[in-house]
Amino acid sequence: MALYDVIVIGSGPAGLTAAIYASRANLRTLVIAGQVAGGQLMLTTEVENYPGFPNGVLGPELMELWRKQAERFHADFVDDNVTKVDLSRRPFKVWVNEDVHEGRAVIVATGAMARWLGIPSEERLKGRGVSACATCDGFFFKGLDVVVVGGGDTAMEEALYLSKLCRTVTVVHRRNEFRASRIMQDRLLKTPNVKVVWDHIIEEVLGDKKVEAVRVKNVKTGATQDLKAQGFFVAVGHAPATEPFQGQLDIDAKGYVTLHPTAESRTATSVPGVFAAGDVHDFRYRQAVTAAGFGCMAALDAERWLQTQE
Ligand code: NAP
Repeated sequence: MALYDVIVIGSGPAGLTAAIYASRANLRTLVIAGQVAGGQLMLTTEVENYPGFPNGVLGPELMELWRKQAERFHADFVDDNVTKVDLSRRPFKVWVNEDVHEGRAVIVATGAMARWLGIPSEERLKGRGVSACATCDGFFFKGLDVVVVGGGDTAMEEALYLSKLCRTVTVVHRRNEFRASRIMQDRLLKTPNVKVVWDHIIEEVLGDKKVEAVRVKNVKTGATQDLKAQGFFVAVGHAPATEPFQGQLDIDAKGYVTLHPTAESRTATSVPGVFAAGDVHDFRYRQAVTAAGFGCMAALDAERWLQTQE
């Protein structure tokens, strides 16, 4: 069994950037890329806000380039999911089914997936007006009417972001109070082109080839109404991919890895030698470019930490 200096778990922007930095620093690097490699950008079409691509770039194309760059510096790849880890002693052990890999340091970059409502019309119109990322797709709805569903901080942020671009933003929430922080709620409720529809759930997204309206149902009366809109943004939370790390790393109630930053290492976790990067810990920014930045930081932190172990 080979002993790697760094095992990177995940192959989105955070994981692949960590792999590029670690392998270029001459660290023997293994990337466990996952069964569906490449992360959330594999599910997007045009990416217009990643720096360096003035004409935009397709998400899957960007991830392919990213991976080639990591392979160029001889990072090894396993295209499967991690099934188990043992972070209780060193070297750390990472299993992919029956195969076990050993690493002196580990970078967790498994990301998070947006939660969806799970209704058929939402699935059918994804990328045709249905989105889970206002920063990514809001621009396409400039001057138009959009609906946002959710009542947490993400929904507030998405709606506020969209309010600067869109003609109207209607936030639909299933209860009569938000769960979001007070400051975010106040900001939202004070925004003139934002309206809130309380006590309603989403029944259906209407439209043949693109979103034309959103049918909502009052949970108290059962009455339905159609809200005319060209965009529908789902902001009902994210699910971080932290299942294999439960009980081994400090993980918060929502499933995100909690960082334990030190003076030397901003990306340290509760286990020395294990670092985390990207959406697996960051619920605030969630951008490819910020995930890439965190990946770079984690690789530099791992490199420095390994030097202290020699
Ligand atoms: P969240 O706090 O879990 O909120 C999810 C919202 O979606 C809730 O209002 C929930 O309704 C609603 N919801 C869930 N499933 C639904 C469904 N099937 N149909 C309709 N509505 C549904 O998630 P989040 O807003 O993504 O935030 C996650 C964490 O990140 C939180 O701790 C948050 O504070 C943090 N965060 C912080 C910032 C910031 O500080 N700038 C920004 C974003 C996120 P109920 O309220 O009825 O359960």
